[in-house]
Amino acid sequence: MKLVVGHLYPEYLNIYADRGNIAVLERRTAWRGIELDYRTIGLRDTVRPAEHDLYYVGGGQDREQALVAPDLAAKGPALIEAVEAGAAFLAVCGGYQLLGNFYRDRSGAELPGIGLLPQHTVAGERRMIGDVLLECELEPGDARTLAGFENHAGRTYLDEGAEPLGRVVSGFGNNGQDGFEGCRVAGAVGTYLHGPLLPRNPWLADWLIARALSRRLGETVALEPLTDDLEASAHAVSSERARRRGGRF
Ligand code: GLN
Repeated sequence: MKLVVGHLYPEYLNIYADRGNIAVLERRTAWRGIELDYRTIGLRDTVRPAEHDLYYVGGGQDREQALVAPDLAAKGPALIEAVEAGAAFLAVCGGYQLLGNFYRDRSGAELPGIGLLPQHTVAGERRMIGDVLLECELEPGDARTLAGFENHAGRTYLDEGAEPLGRVVSGFGNNGQDGFEGCRVAGAVGTYLHGPLLPRNPWLADWLIARALSRRLGETVALEPLTDDLEASAHAVSSERARRRGGRF
């Protein structure tokens, strides 16, 4: 069995140990006997919607975001088609912002987003930095927590009726005001959480892998659980740090 992962712009959007998220996907598929075919998608590469099962885009500062935004906008329709056809997608921080409708920087200049996620982002004065804890329920009745670290000046606002990734227990989240964090459409998830994200939240890695496998096989797939003792400790440490920081909502 094989999964094809497409990593968008690894040479530009790569801060906050984003490679760690890919390493987790690689290990968790290998442990289950699934081959992960890792491919990069750079500037001017064409996205063929049938090619990849899972897309990943990481974080970057405004300068790197401006460098890739026009190219990403051109890839937008193919990426949206891929998600509509069942592909999974994880977008972190700067990449998350560019999957929305637009990103307006401090000077008022606007970068186009691809409109995959129903949100937009406007840069604010103060950076929102620190440990974050969320409550999520990506599958009805299956409540989980997500722990990570955020560092962003952009404030992201969800469109009316849009589904967040989770509710903030501690930290700022999308904008420090409405208690939402991230955004989700079908198998696509955008979030400010990094640190990196997947090593301390393996359930989210498995959720993405299962969605990607289901796309490939054309049927719903349930993954064998793994022994996640180390991952559980990392999650506990990170959650505790976020709780000490205190809730804001
Ligand atoms: N433009 C981003 C910001 O809001 C960059 C976010 C990031 O990836 N650090 O700060």
